Amino acid sequence: MKKTIAMVTAVVAALFIVLTVVITVVLYHGVYEDNVRTTLSEELDILSYLYETGNDIKTIGSKNGRLTIIKPDGSVEYDSEALFSQMENHGERKEVKEAFLMGRGSDERQSDTLSIKQIYEAVLLTDGNVLRLSKNASTVFAFFSMISGPIVSLVVVLLILVVFIASKASDYIVAPINALDLDNPEENNVYDEISPLLLKIARQKNEVREEIADKERTRKEFEFIVSTLSEGLVVLGRGGRILSFNKSAARLLEERIESDKPFLAYLESSDSKEVVLSALNGKDGETTFKVSSKILELSAYSSHSGGAVVLMRDITEKCERERMRKEFTANVSHELKTPITTIMGFSEILENPEIERDKVTDFAAEINKEALRLSDIVGDIIELSSLDEGYKGEKEEINVRNVVGYEIKKLEHKAEDNGVSIENNVSSSLVLYVTPKVFSEVISNLLDNAIRYNRKGGFVKVESKEIEGKVEISVSDNGIGIPKDSLGRVFERFYRVDKSRSRESGGTGLGLSIVKNGVERMGGEVRVESTQGEGSVFTLTFPLNQ
Ligand code: ADP
Repeated sequence: MKKTIAMVTAVVAALFIVLTVVITVVLYHGVYEDNVRTTLSEELDILSYLYETGNDIKTIGSKNGRLTIIKPDGSVEYDSEALFSQMENHGERKEVKEAFLMGRGSDERQSDTLSIKQIYEAVLLTDGNVLRLSKNASTVFAFFSMISGPIVSLVVVLLILVVFIASKASDYIVAPINALDLDNPEENNVYDEISPLLLKIARQKNEVREEIADKERTRKEFEFIVSTLSEGLVVLGRGGRILSFNKSAARLLEERIESDKPFLAYLESSDSKEVVLSALNGKDGETTFKVSSKILELSAYSSHSGGAVVLMRDITEKCERERMRKEFTANVSHELKTPITTIMGFSEILENPEIERDKVTDFAAEINKEALRLSDIVGDIIELSSLDEGYKGEKEEINVRNVVGYEIKKLEHKAEDNGVSIENNVSSSLVLYVTPKVFSEVISNLLDNAIRYNRKGGFVKVESKEIEGKVEISVSDNGIGIPKDSLGRVFERFYRVDKSRSRESGGTGLGLSIVKNGVERMGGEVRVESTQGEGSVFTLTFPLNQ
């Protein structure tokens, strides 16, 4: 811009300088020619006067002029510059002809060289002769070439000056524009002409700022959503290169994943590789694969850009639940089969009319025992299913000592039959906010186990203590205890250390599963410590003020 302003200014100024010089020269030349004509005319008047008054004008001659006397026949009588005897007839020359006719005549003729112009003026004398005076006047070109030296020097000096001034002027014009604060366009106070432009810039700046903020907000929202997704998300570019991935993807792939690496390198199973490759080729697909002990479900979707989006979900728990459900169904069938078969066997025998009377009583007792067992198993299955389906029940504040006391009372006979004593040492002020029905069931199951897996003269103690905002309720016994290798499995459904002892004592193999499930539903935890032959301690932990 600076250059353009300087150049335009310099060119315009140079043009004006040249134009001014040309016009001045032309005007000045006009004045000069008029001057020559006036001088010529005045000089002719003087010479004609001198001639008429008898003076010898031939000797006087003319200053800077050529004097010619022409006779009435046109022949030249005298010429101050040429050999007049040899000069041609001048009668037809315009100025001479006019002088003979009207007393005075004039003419101007260009010389061959173009640089000189001759001005003629002639006057008729009283003796019939014509006195002609001519002077040379430079033409405009000659005039111009005459003064060209100083003019060119002047023009050059002026041009240098103009270029210098133009450059300074453009600096001066451009300086405020260069100093514009475009971060705050409205705060500039420069040329009125650029105010609308600055206003427009300010408006657009605001629009762009808002748009960027909007995009940034959307990007952050998207990033937040993606980062909080429990599913692993991996965006692949052409050829399966990883463009981006979220935290869950890194976690699921054990933190091995890195941007810009080929995603297929992280997949070991050929199935998953194939699904991702298909998605990269435009076909969506799904599969499952294993990473260490985890089972991941992988869904791959092709993207318009020729890449793919991969979603991964940890389905280990789902698969485990599915496995347990199948195992549970198989176990239930097996558990139910035994009492049903027994009942069927005894009832068939009872159908025989010849059966002895006292045997009838025994068989009926067996049928009753198995039916009770069936009822217990079905009852526990219903209880467990209800907890599995998310039963939490209404929570209420309960006095733990009272609930434990009530459950002990219900089992008093059993304890007596087994020669086991029970102590309730729970703090009388302990209050918990739990589901009463589930809590009672949990305590009942633990007490029942502690009585059944005990020995004559053994004891069961229920105690409570508060530690760091938590309350621990323990049910301990000095019974048979649990072998070390079974400790981790006693909470499994239908797991029993000693099947026949469990069955003999009326166990279903579901008691501790109900305890674990029930406690967890109420927000607590259960753990077991035991030494075989010495006894066991089952401890329930609940957060206080829940
Ligand atoms: P069950 O109905 O067979 O008692 P549970 O689920 O209640 O089933 O318990 C699972 C197994 O854990 C029992 O079969 C038993 O072997 C063991 N067990 C539970 N409680 C005790 C305890 N207090 N002392 C010793 N063994 C126990």
